[in-house]
Amino acid sequence: MSNNESCPFCRAKGAMLTPTGTPGTRAIYCISCGAQGPTERTTALAWASWNERKEADG
Ligand SMILES: [Zn+2]
Repeated sequence: MSNNESCPFCRAKGAMLTPTGTPGTRAIYCISCGAQGPTERTTALAWASWNERKEADG
């Protein structure tokens, strides 16, 4: 798990990025701008998808 990634949209990081959703459906959510990553089964997978999205968006 990582919590030091930054938001690709508003550059928020740290506590502004938090896992959301119910157990079994986790997604990384940016409190600052409301961006949300893909929904995954675990927080770790949600972070991985968030990172992939960030790279894909440049
Ligand atoms: Zn953001």
